[in-house]
Amino acid sequence: MPNKPVRWMMSRPGAPFVAAEFEASPSAGDVTVKVAGCGVCHTDLGYYYDGVRTNHALPLCLGHEISGQVIATGAGAEAWMGKTVIVPAVIPCGSCDACRRGKETICRNQKMPGNDIQGGFASHIVVPARGLCPVDGSRLEIAGLTLADLSVVADAVTTPYQAVVQAGVSPGDLVIVNGVGGIGGYCAQIAKAFGGTVVAIDVNQDRLEAIAGETAALTLNARGMQQRDLKSAIQAFAKASGLRPTEWIVFECSGTRSGQETAYGLLNHGATLAVVGFTMDKVEIRLSNLMAFHARALGNWGCPPALYPAALDLVLDGRVKVAPFVEQHPLDEINRVFEAVHHGDIHRRAVLVPAA
Ligand SMILES: [Zn+2]
Ligand SMILES: [Zn+2]
Repeated sequence: MPNKPVRWMMSRPGAPFVAAEFEASPSAGDVTVKVAGCGVCHTDLGYYYDGVRTNHALPLCLGHEISGQVIATGAGAEAWMGKTVIVPAVIPCGSCDACRRGKETICRNQKMPGNDIQGGFASHIVVPARGLCPVDGSRLEIAGLTLADLSVVADAVTTPYQAVVQAGVSPGDLVIVNGVGGIGGYCAQIAKAFGGTVVAIDVNQDRLEAIAGETAALTLNARGMQQRDLKSAIQAFAKASGLRPTEWIVFECSGTRSGQETAYGLLNHGATLAVVGFTMDKVEIRLSNLMAFHARALGNWGCPPALYPAALDLVLDGRVKVAPFVEQHPLDEINRVFEAVHHGDIHRRAVLVPAA
């Protein structure tokens, strides 16, 4: 008899994940996905280490950055059988008032794996079929990527993709990405693909060097730099590059208090601040700067499923590189991997891969 589906459960924050067998049979409208890989996200660390509450009661299997193959289908979802897919990190209901008006990211009936429903640190997951993003296997092979690598498209790529679309990045824009590990590294590549000239800021020199040149036209190490020095360095760069001294588009991807303060301090006339990273910390800022600068601040939660195919295209075309920023680890080592990510010993996105 084949092994039963297994998922790694969090019983309470900080307690070791424990493997548990379960039945992975899909109801009507659902599919069972055999997980190829599931990325470890900052949000998972928040649930596990920082006491951020999950919507679903514990015990819960975390993990919302999932790719895999459909191996069973419920009634009405038969067309998905056998397909390789990316599971959106946020799956909207598709039928409520917000969804019908195209505002799917604020759907109150949305399902986020590893938060509202059982997640992807598992051999299998049962999810609604609607919103799945199909992956063309032949293009995947040509791109030299594995299906597990593509798990990061479910969140780390699509969340900044949505932010870049929402901020309206276009050719001629000066784009500042603050925090270029993980999500920020993809944000920088996507903003470049949309025609922006990218300035990358981080406190980690390795991360800056990883995207200097090809992606970022200017990199600045914020460690040891005063806020006003950062701003004047970017002003000088804009002038030398023939870019506007106004209307900068700033993506805050560090998810730290100091990073948010840095990003806010870079606003200028007509600027856009996009808050992509998350922290529980509070910052002290002069909110009236938004008024004085006629600036705007935007947030975004996940990405509507309709945008996934275009985001995936950027990856499969090689315009957004994922392979250098991903490393795979066996799912069985989830406890070790969480500790290593938490302690900063793993710099790339850790993708947990179930045993074949
Ligand atoms: Zn995430
Ligand atoms: Zn809805």
